[in-house]
Amino acid sequence: MRKIVKDKNILRQISKEWRVGTFEELGEIVDNMKEVMDELDGIGIAAIQIGVPKRIFLAGKGDDTKLFVNAKILERSPFEKKHWEGCLSCDNIQVRTSRPSYVVIEYDTIVKGAWVRMKEKYKGHDAAVIMHEFDHMNGYLIEDRGKVYRP
Ligand SMILES: [Zn+2]
Repeated sequence: MRKIVKDKNILRQISKEWRVGTFEELGEIVDNMKEVMDELDGIGIAAIQIGVPKRIFLAGKGDDTKLFVNAKILERSPFEKKHWEGCLSCDNIQVRTSRPSYVVIEYDTIVKGAWVRMKEKYKGHDAAVIMHEFDHMNGYLIEDRGKVYRP
């Protein structure tokens, strides 16, 4: 089983676009991500967190986990909301972040074995999760996004 990456030299990398490869290749990465996320009881994980610098992330829990490939932000609310965030890659810290109250994103995903381009709006806590994972793809961590608390 893959392990969660905590090494900042890896986490600070900027992930590259996933150039639509084989389903097997993507499937293996996604299965590994899901396994690590579930093991740690997370609600989101980016590929870089298992050491794969590609623009792929998962968000959600259990059967509601969604796959986001090459996500782009089309629109973000000018208003921000405060959230408490932790991160599977950052031990023992909670950060008081500010995130846009909504975001509109476009991404590729797989539905019934075929690629589909989606455009969706996420609000509140869901928008924070999306922005958190989006940050991972650009090498940002929660400590960059607000005051750090060590409970
Ligand atoms: Zn994280």
